[in-house]
Parts: sequence; C-alpha cells; structure tokens
Amino acid sequence: MAETPILEPCIPLPIAERTLIDVTEKAKDWAIMHGAAMRSKTNFSSDTLNFAPFILMPSSFPRKEFEKAKNLQTIINQLMHNVAHDEEFLTTTLAETVKVDEFTANLFNVYKKVLANGFGQAYSLGLLRSDYLAHMLEDNSVKQVEINTIASSFGGISTHMMPLQSFVMSELGHADKIKYMPENTALSGLCGGMIKAWEVYAQPKAVILFVIEDISYNICDQRFHEFYIREQRPDIKVLRRTLTEVHKEGKLGPNKELLLGEYEVAVIYFRAGYEPLHYHSQNEWDARYMMECSRAIKCPSIHYHLAGTKKVQQALAQPEMLERFISDPEKIKAVGQIFTGLYSLDDSEAGNASYEMALKEPERFVLKPQREGGGNNVYGADIPDALRKMSRVERAAWILMDLIQPPISKGYMIRPGGKSPPEVVDLVSELGIFGVILGDVDNVICNYQAGHMLRTKLSTANEGGVAAGLGALDSPYLL
Ligand code: ADP
Ligand code: MG
Ligand code: MG
Repeated sequence: MAETPILEPCIPLPIAERTLIDVTEKAKDWAIMHGAAMRSKTNFSSDTLNFAPFILMPSSFPRKEFEKAKNLQTIINQLMHNVAHDEEFLTTTLAETVKVDEFTANLFNVYKKVLANGFGQAYSLGLLRSDYLAHMLEDNSVKQVEINTIASSFGGISTHMMPLQSFVMSELGHADKIKYMPENTALSGLCGGMIKAWEVYAQPKAVILFVIEDISYNICDQRFHEFYIREQRPDIKVLRRTLTEVHKEGKLGPNKELLLGEYEVAVIYFRAGYEPLHYHSQNEWDARYMMECSRAIKCPSIHYHLAGTKKVQQALAQPEMLERFISDPEKIKAVGQIFTGLYSLDDSEAGNASYEMALKEPERFVLKPQREGGGNNVYGADIPDALRKMSRVERAAWILMDLIQPPISKGYMIRPGGKSPPEVVDLVSELGIFGVILGDVDNVICNYQAGHMLRTKLSTANEGGVAAGLGALDSPYLL
C-alpha cells in the first residue's frame, strides 16, 4: 500500500499541556450545555447525558472535494427518488438477495404487499445522507461510502460542532481561522423537509410521528429536530413511539389515516426500523406495513428504504446503469466519478469472478451485508474466511467494495472517561452530506442540499460509529 499522506493541521500541534487541559475542560462543558451529548451506553440513565465524543479542533478536509460533494447532492437526491420509484429495477436488483437475506426479504414483502394493496400516499419524503471518504490514491477525491435513506442521523448535533470548535479555536487564540470552517445548516434543512411534508398533508391538527428505538441513546440529535420543529411551528406536535407501541396504539381510519389515540399522523419519521433487532416479533412488521399503507407521508417510504440498500448501491455503480435514471450526460459523469469499485457476489459469472478476486487480494476490499448502523462489515484479511463459510447462494446477501484509503489528519479525540490531557492521534474523517427531497413519482416539490456532518475515527479503526465508541463528531477545516 502507498504511504498515507498527512493533511496539514489547522494549527501547529501539540498544544502545551496546561492550555490543552484548560481548553478540553471548557469544551466538554460547552458540548453538554449545547446538547452535543448522548445517553451513556455503559451507565444508562434517562435522567443524564454525557457529552458526545468529539474532535477538539476541526479536522482538515480538501475544500474542492467538500464543495464537489455538496454540489452533487441534489442530483443524488433525484437519483434516489427515481430509483425508489422504479419497481422493475428494485425487483430485479434485489431478486437474489431476498432469497437469502431474511431482513431484506421482510422489507421487500412489505413493499410487494403495499404495491398490491395500493399506496395510501403518493408522496415520499427523503432525508438522505450520502457519505464519503477522500481517496488518497486518486488525489484525495471523494468516493461514496454509502447512501443512507433511513434514519440518517447526526444532523442535529453536527449543526453544533462548528460552533463548538470555533469556541475552541478562539480560546486558543486562532479566531482568525474560523473563516475556514463552513457553516452547517443540517438541522434547519432536515426539519424544513419535515415541515414541508406536514404542509403537503394539509391537516392542521395532524402530528409528526418519530418512530424510535426502545432506548434512544442518540436522544439529543432527535430532540434537536423535535424542538426545532416546535420552535418554527408552534402548531406542530411531535409524538415519539416505538414500532411496538405503534402496533398497540395505532390503526387506520376510513381514509387510510394513521390514527394514534386522538392524533392523526401527517408525517412518519423513522429513526428506527432499519435493523432486524428493531422488529421483536411479527407485531412490529405489522406496524410497519400498516404505516406503509397509510396516508401519512413516510420518511422514508418502503421503496426509499429499499433504494438505500447496499445491493442497490452496487447495482447503480455498474456501467451504463446511471443512464436509466439520469438523462444529462454531465450529471452522469459527475456521479460516476464518486463511485468506487462495487461488485456483486451473486451466483453468476460476474459474481463468481468477484469472489475469486476477493480471495486473491482481500486487503483491497470491504465485504458488506444488507445492514445499517455500523459494525457489520468484514475487512481485508478476514474476508476469505467469511466468504468460505457462505454457500454460493448465501453470498448474494453481500456485496464487495474497493477499500477507500483516506488521508490522515492529526488531532485530539475527546471521549467521556478519556485520558487527561489527551494525546495527538492519527485520524481519518468521513464526510456526510444531507439531502432533502419531497415528491411523488412525477412531481418533485422540493430538492435541496441540507448541510453536512463530519465523523472522525482513529486511523487504525475500520469503522467509526460514534455510538459504537470508535468515532467522534467533528467539522471540517477546509484546506
Ligand atoms: P453502515 O450502513 O453500517 O453505516 P457503511 O457502508 O457506512 O455501513 O460502513 C460502515 C463504515 O465502514 C463506514 O463508516 C466506513 O468507516 C467503513 N467503510 C465502509 N465502506 C468502506 C470502504 N469502501 N472503504 C473504507 N472504509 C469503508
Ligand atoms: Mg448506512
Ligand atoms: Mg455508514
């Protein structure tokens, strides 16, 4: 492997010990006091918060690539919208996968049942997040890691990262550098989408429902959305219910309204439902199906959810596939450039060739199942064993992807219970760009880019889930 380049830090490192201790203590309190916080997993209490892991100063990121990713977002929104509405494409693309992946099959069954029964609502709301790593082997150009169409999180907390790190930069006497840190409009952008969908539903008394996990560790991120909506629109109520509660309390009215007790639901925002563990029994699947049949505008609707699977991402990266969904050749070219190699592992000639390729040079790849939420992938040297344990047909539940090799930045990662003073460590950052799209099959009401998030992990970790404990929230310092 080529030697990893190191990006220039925003200020010279290390910071003198006394200054570092002082500024870290202040930054932690700033984070808690501004809601850059989460519930503890190890010491859970719904009465307390810990600050969310964060990077003390903004991590360097190539400006040109940041701008490129932002400018592409509306095209990606439209692409995902078109994919979600292409029944034939979703069906053929997922055909082999649903035979062996039970979770995707369950989602697909919901989709087929709703198709047969008729959609209660033609409009869908997409709050998307397209994730990127800069790839050092291609001049640090951004490559798409994945696109999330369900529960795209951290828009709320991320909005507070630039102010947190600006505070730190000022404390350190570098206020002049704040101009290299872009503003972030993720929270207002994402909530604006939900409010717009609520208006489209046009029922002044109806509420927005957040479908949540049994325990919400990432509570602040969700509350930011809820409180922002209430602040902008004192007339809109937000309810929070688990899938189990929706099953118990929910029913459809005479015009397919989703009714929860005394409330009619205008918009359903899923912050749960993206992993098998969220469905404890058939009840939760029944609840999902009922919601999909309802008149409420779903974020995402089931077809948007399926459009966000890794298998669909892999299919879209095949030559000429984008032409099915995008007509402008310039746009096709621009989107094509952010794809890295993605390979099917179906039991086909191409699939078997990728299998052989993975066994031969595993360190070039990442192996991914149809799952969300981090911690599910297999990397490098672990790939051959994982693949050999699968039957030919079982491999169709997975895709293979080129390993993206990002440049390193240096900085301090601040975690609850972490060392004081913190040490300078090697980091890599993943950029997420949020997008909002609202429309039906042939009419898009709004489509915009909605801010960003930067999540940074130790360069030695394969994955950087913030909740999982390896990653930290961050914001970019544009070089
Ligand atoms: P999830 O839906 O679970 O978040 P991802 O595809 O985003 O799945 O993978 C999780 C993490 O794994 C990413 O955040 C990134 O850190 C790492 N990762 C995924 N794909 C690649 C890749 N092609 N190259 C390098 N790292 C990757
Ligand atoms: Mg994901
Ligand atoms: Mg991800």
